[in-house]
Amino acid sequence: MPSVQPTPKIWMNGELVDWENAKIHILTHTLHYGMGVFEGIRAYETADGPAIFRLTDHIVRLQNSARILMMDLPYSVDEIIQACKDTVASTGLSACYVRPIAYLGYGEMGLNPLPCKVDVAIACWPWGAYLGDDALTKGVRMKISSWTRHDHNTMPPAAKTTGNYVNSSLAKVEALKAGYDEAIMLNPAGLIAECTGENLFVSRNGKLITPPLAAGALEGITQHSVMTIADDLGIACVVDDLARSDLYIADEIFCCGTAAEVSAVNSVDDRPVTCPGPFTKAIADVYSRAVRGQEDRYKTWVEHVR
Ligand code: PMP
Repeated sequence: MPSVQPTPKIWMNGELVDWENAKIHILTHTLHYGMGVFEGIRAYETADGPAIFRLTDHIVRLQNSARILMMDLPYSVDEIIQACKDTVASTGLSACYVRPIAYLGYGEMGLNPLPCKVDVAIACWPWGAYLGDDALTKGVRMKISSWTRHDHNTMPPAAKTTGNYVNSSLAKVEALKAGYDEAIMLNPAGLIAECTGENLFVSRNGKLITPPLAAGALEGITQHSVMTIADDLGIACVVDDLARSDLYIADEIFCCGTAAEVSAVNSVDDRPVTCPGPFTKAIADVYSRAVRGQEDRYKTWVEHVR
């Protein structure tokens, strides 16, 4: 049984098609060479119906990923935003995961992507807690991966590119096979980059630290939300490089992303960390209300479907 639960419609190149008819040709260019860009977004139930959290920021990042790959999106940011809303509305769900993807379609082959047609699709489906229902209470077991996060001159980590996720999947499988829940990736200089699908925050001496984009992290939208919430809660938070020993002697650690939301970390390479720590709990609590439109100061992040 596939774990993805079908919803009625998928948006493909301007049309809502039936879920089972959302198909592509085997010679779709991106399937072969990994030059696709995508986003992972969540819609939450709010008092005013479903709302997509920071939808505009996600679609701007999609466009930036496309710019890095020299891929011309055939739709404007505003058109993709509206298409995401239409797709969520078509599911009838009050909360779901939203996956826009732009890919090089059928018709050209070879390693020059520039002549390829760019296709865009948006699918939505229900998706629960990515790192498990008790990721916030019991925390996740982290392993520092033997796989290195690719550097800026190998595969640009700032672009959310389909091909980049081979690196993440290698690390994820290694961690799972070794009995851990998730992997932490070091960059080629040996500094902390991020997790396979989340950014990382470490608390030391009363201050939160998260690695920069330059360290090989994706510029996470949840990371930005967390930094804003921390600031508003009066918790000092800086963007700075971290070494693995910073993790081993951390006061608390959490990771965050659209899918994982705010998830506590209970150990790194079998060194236990206080879990969930006070900063993790305070920030996760505000984040959980903010995404559901229950925090007035973050209302602009909540983009209603209707
Ligand atoms: N890093 C990676 C590699 C990711 O795939 C994600 C998920 N998009 C994140 C960080 C977190 O980004 P966001 O908070 O924007 O979901």
